[in-house]
Amino acid sequence: STESGAGVPRHGTGEWQALDHRHYLHPFTDHHDLGQRGVRVIECADGVYIYDSEGHRILDGMSGLWCVNLGYGRQDLVDAAAAQMRELPYYNSFFQTAHPPAIELSRVLGEVAPEGFDKVFYTGSGSEANDTVIKMVRRYWDLVEQPQRRVFISRRNAYHGSTVAAATLGGMAPMHDQLGPMVNFIEHIDQPYHFGLGAGMDPDEFGLRQARLLAEKIEETGPENVAAFIAEPVQGAGGVIIPPDSYWPEIQRICREFDVLLVADEVICGFGRLGEWFGSQRLGIEPDLMPFAKGVTSGYLPLGGVLVGQRVGAVLGQQGGEFAHGFTYSGHPAACAVALANIRALRDEGVIERVRDDVGPWFSERFATLADHPLVGQARSIGLVGAIELVRDKDSLARFDKDLGVGGRCRDACFAQGLVMRAVGDSMIVAPPLVMTREQVGELVDKAWRSLDITASSLGVTGGA
Ligand code: PMP
Repeated sequence: STESGAGVPRHGTGEWQALDHRHYLHPFTDHHDLGQRGVRVIECADGVYIYDSEGHRILDGMSGLWCVNLGYGRQDLVDAAAAQMRELPYYNSFFQTAHPPAIELSRVLGEVAPEGFDKVFYTGSGSEANDTVIKMVRRYWDLVEQPQRRVFISRRNAYHGSTVAAATLGGMAPMHDQLGPMVNFIEHIDQPYHFGLGAGMDPDEFGLRQARLLAEKIEETGPENVAAFIAEPVQGAGGVIIPPDSYWPEIQRICREFDVLLVADEVICGFGRLGEWFGSQRLGIEPDLMPFAKGVTSGYLPLGGVLVGQRVGAVLGQQGGEFAHGFTYSGHPAACAVALANIRALRDEGVIERVRDDVGPWFSERFATLADHPLVGQARSIGLVGAIELVRDKDSLARFDKDLGVGGRCRDACFAQGLVMRAVGDSMIVAPPLVMTREQVGELVDKAWRSLDITASSLGVTGGA
């Protein structure tokens, strides 16, 4: 056939690449570089594997973009979307209307979320969820008559999205450089990145030190002016930064001491990534708000939102006056139907318990063996997310010269070996689908090892294990 089942033409790789280069502007992409290399075209997927237009089968170690938690090819999710689209493909919830899938999803999210999180505001994405957080927190402080609490504190190297406000809230230096000073009530503190910032320090001592940066920033800003602190339970795009055990309890204590709202960005950690429904549960965090997206639908359709805990929910859910905020696709019926099917599958198939008790611990053990490779200074993981740090010298943990682009080389080697791993500088990160088998974990680690060998030999590094 000359068309796919979805009515899209079938072309060869070269033709797709030419069309792509001519017409398609990609997110976070250097188009000069992409034009030289030619885009990789992914045509289909099944389980934990994606297939490109050259017929390569590739183990998707990143779950798409940290979202395909249930893996590809789930007929139940497809059926839920199709059935909902036939019944009611779209309606809004602005003008005192609602529809069954959004109401039912709100109820079900209240069941799987921690105690007290029984209200939700929907968005189309994680970025919109974090923009919503900013406005919702403002609204809360206005309603409780502390309108001067306007400052948000976030972390350097955090990722909270790409809209103007979410990008300012995030701490990605290259994004700030292109954006300039846009939103002026956001402050940043350093991250709890032990490998990168705490070399030689006891991890728990380092964790406390980094948490106390929050107290210092609050004091400096004036506690009466601080609205909220926002952070990912485990920082994802910043390089899978797993904080020391001492970090979150101290952050929690500081937020309580200064009466500052705590926002846990669960866009990556939510829906099972760390072996609990939410990362906050795994790390013992008790936030006031939880923005989410990605895993709520396993990425099959776009959906995000903010789960609202008791403190803010009691005020926003009762008080009069309008919250002037919302999106056309807030609570899109088909996306909500897919989310319901996704949550049903996560529950009925015990996917999250399996991450916690079986495949997660197995992954941790196998992934840790990568630390024996001559190129690896550290291999760390939690649940089904992990990172390895590429170093020139295993003893001093010195990095390679930036110009060598070692992370990029390793990523390319992984692709050639049939594995998607992402490079964040010289950190290699993975977050595979939660449904992967022990055997597939073995395949991931073996392919990663071989890719490290190829990277090492391209650099002239030899010896070691
Ligand atoms: N928060 C976190 C923690 C994320 O990882 C992301 C996306 N990677 C976002 C927010 C933004 O989500 P989206 O791309 O859906 O806007």
